[in-house]
Amino acid sequence: MTLTGVARYEPEQLSSVGDHAVVVGASMAGLCAARVLADGFEDVTVIERDPLPDEPVARRGVPQANHIHVLQEAGRATLTDLFPDFGENLLSNGGLVLDGTRDLKMYDEGDFNADSPHRIPVYSAIRPLYESIVRRSVTTLDNVQMRPECQFITFRTDEEVTAVEGVIVKPAGGQSEELPADLVIDTTGRTSHTPTWLKEHGYPSPPTDEVRINVTYSTTFIERPSDDRHGILVVPSAPRTRGGAFLPVENDQWQVTLFGMHGDHPPADLDGFQEYTASFPIPHHKRLLDEYPQITEEIVQYPFQSNMRRRYEDLDRFPDGLVVLGDAIASFNPLYGQGMSVAALEALEFHHALAAGGREDLPSRVFKRIKQTVDIAWSMAVGADVQFPQTEGPKPRSADVLNWYLTRLIRQAHTDGMLFDAFFRVQMMEQPPSSLFRPRIMWRVLRPTGG
Ligand SMILES: Cc1cc2nc3c(=O)[nH]c(=O)nc-3n(C[C@H](O)[C@H](O)[C@H](O)COP(=O)(O)OP(=O)(O)OC[C@H]3O[C@@H](n4cnc5c(N)ncnc54)[C@H](O)[C@@H]3O)c2cc1C
Repeated sequence: MTLTGVARYEPEQLSSVGDHAVVVGASMAGLCAARVLADGFEDVTVIERDPLPDEPVARRGVPQANHIHVLQEAGRATLTDLFPDFGENLLSNGGLVLDGTRDLKMYDEGDFNADSPHRIPVYSAIRPLYESIVRRSVTTLDNVQMRPECQFITFRTDEEVTAVEGVIVKPAGGQSEELPADLVIDTTGRTSHTPTWLKEHGYPSPPTDEVRINVTYSTTFIERPSDDRHGILVVPSAPRTRGGAFLPVENDQWQVTLFGMHGDHPPADLDGFQEYTASFPIPHHKRLLDEYPQITEEIVQYPFQSNMRRRYEDLDRFPDGLVVLGDAIASFNPLYGQGMSVAALEALEFHHALAAGGREDLPSRVFKRIKQTVDIAWSMAVGADVQFPQTEGPKPRSADVLNWYLTRLIRQAHTDGMLFDAFFRVQMMEQPPSSLFRPRIMWRVLRPTGG
């Protein structure tokens, strides 16, 4: 599902569901899950192995937070539903609100997009600011307790291992302790140990799809005049494996991230960084780096090997009392900026599953619901990645035809703002991809170009 396909958050729908729930992992998926659980459980405990400082800084457990994070409309709207003062807090802490198709431009298929006839507000901030704003809101909930510097060790179960009944954790410098719970949520991200735990306890592991793209991100910050709020994204487009983006963020900075797919990795020194941008099809990134001073000398890198999806919805046996959400279910090529928004939409689906049937058969109902959101994000990310012949992994059905159509759409959207508007709303996970096949859109895509 995309934003328009999921019913909105209605906390009053939820009556008492249980006494105690534990969330493992206090990143975006875990915090959104904690918000939802707080409506139906007496107490919610969030376990996180990192310290959780007040300031917006990248933590050890979330190293991707050093790199550009775009918050899509689906994420913005859902986070605002879950935390009504999200936008206000973000902006009062330095975040920006930009016009998604005027301040931000996308260069793809040989030109920039046309302006949309409508203003499309997009928040812009560094990833740690999004997380710290959400964390502060969760911390103010009376029945939620955060346990930073507390390592999850394993699940507690009943004797027959038919149900998870809590967790065993180890606080920093302390002894292991047991935390009984009616429900445990695994939001430990891509490296989640639940598949291994299932196998070790006589359950099938979820079938896993992996589509290899071998992309690396390199990121730095440069000074930005406070009245200049523009940003540009160059999308890697086969056969060109390179791309990059600069995004205006808080404290008069541009965050500059270069990305290279299939081993064409951007360097981690400024000279190499500038040289890399010299090979881009437009001069804007290089010019910016030449003109404005770097704020820190550091260039941080992040390698990301593959889109990965664990199909928990296909399992016919799974313990009661355990649900998995966020990157622990699926993580996508970060170029498409989906992860935080998918995590927020999944939390909303989780809320509806709790409201519809409480804890009864909860894991399988949640996995089936969120499958629809993951399906869409997966088809968009992997569908685009398979345009590169080097991409390895299962190819979505009809990907070639779809890519032909989308390439034509993007080219027409160089001069047709309406078309770009429709495309952007799909990219932002506001509208489903099927909206691009409405007759009035198809006509604009397929009409003769006149050239
Ligand atoms: C380079 C890069 C760029 C990205 N760009 C974007 C973007 O532009 N837009 C977007 O929406 N998304 C983006 N993403 C994805 C986004 O970062 C994630 O989808 C998002 O953080 C949600 O992830 P999560 O909460 O499921 O897991 P994670 O963010 O991975 O968090 C897992 C948490 O679990 C904790 N943890 C793990 N093990 C334990 C344990 N044993 N005990 C206790 N705690 C534990 C970790 O410390 C961490 O806090 C990007 C990802 C990458 C890699």
